[in-house]
Amino acid sequence: MQTHIETIQKEFEEDFKNCFSSATLESLKIKYLGKKGPIQDLMKGLKEASGEDRPKLGKSINDLKVSIEAKLTELGRSLIAREEQQKLLAEKIDETLPGKKRFQGRKHPVNGTLDEIINILIAMGFTVEQGPDIDTDYYNFEVLNFPPEHPARDMQDTFYINKEVLLRTHTSNIQARVMESQKPPIRIIAPGKCFRNEAVTSRSHVFFHQVEAVYIDKNVSFSDLMGTLTDFMQKLFYKDIKVRFWPNYFPFVEPGLQVDIHCLNCKGSGCTLCKHTGWLEVAGAGMIHPEVLKNGGIDPEEYSGFAWGLGIERLVMLKNGIKDIRLFTENDIRFLNQFSAI
Ligand SMILES: [Zn+2]
Repeated sequence: MQTHIETIQKEFEEDFKNCFSSATLESLKIKYLGKKGPIQDLMKGLKEASGEDRPKLGKSINDLKVSIEAKLTELGRSLIAREEQQKLLAEKIDETLPGKKRFQGRKHPVNGTLDEIINILIAMGFTVEQGPDIDTDYYNFEVLNFPPEHPARDMQDTFYINKEVLLRTHTSNIQARVMESQKPPIRIIAPGKCFRNEAVTSRSHVFFHQVEAVYIDKNVSFSDLMGTLTDFMQKLFYKDIKVRFWPNYFPFVEPGLQVDIHCLNCKGSGCTLCKHTGWLEVAGAGMIHPEVLKNGGIDPEEYSGFAWGLGIERLVMLKNGIKDIRLFTENDIRFLNQFSAI
């Protein structure tokens, strides 16, 4: 039996030398100290030893057990320490590695242009008013001199939610609300989203942005309209840009105007962008119709006003030579990356 004890000891020493991980250590514990291990077997075999050898053998078995336990415990401590150290080293930050590139977000070209326009108009004395995207037929049409069944309604294909409620077709739905709640002088701009039930093509979309400017006071004249709009265009584009006005029809203004600017590409000499006319159409405008003032509770005998509206997508397209309005809503980073502002 003594020889068997020594054999086990040698075997353990051999295994112990090759133990380099806590997983192996765990298996050694089970192998030698477990219920089915050789130490237990020796203990069981002790009963069969003669009475006189038993204490000596018992001591040898116990010494072996204690020494195995001590060695494994000590090795366990150093293995854990070493493994922790290795883990820390693996997780250590290497300052010499190049950093991860962070992409900086930027404003959508439509929002960037919208902000720029708002800032110019605020500096010119306008304040920003907002209204609902979903509105009633009354505020979107009726109050603006589009009576029911009026053919002018066909100019704006509309998404109706029901007979009375619709997605606004222009930000002019804010005009009457402002007139109802404020007394002249009124100098407001209404930026926002608009919706029209049109086929989506490279030139038209169901969703776009507009800014409308409204000025109502005593003695607001046609020349105020032309002067303010020209000043605004020169601030938005370049100092001496030429602006011209044509008669046009909108039910809420009388007279109504189409507003053109000198081509941004050729500055009037003619190119493909302006179809060789030298001019680009950028806005609709006019003197506010007396009926609209009346509907808003303002006496047209005492006050007059002008209003004009710009389509933002169209401006960004003209400025940057973009041929397809759908690009604005496709979230293609290759497209969006090219803009800082207008
Ligand atoms: Zn041109």
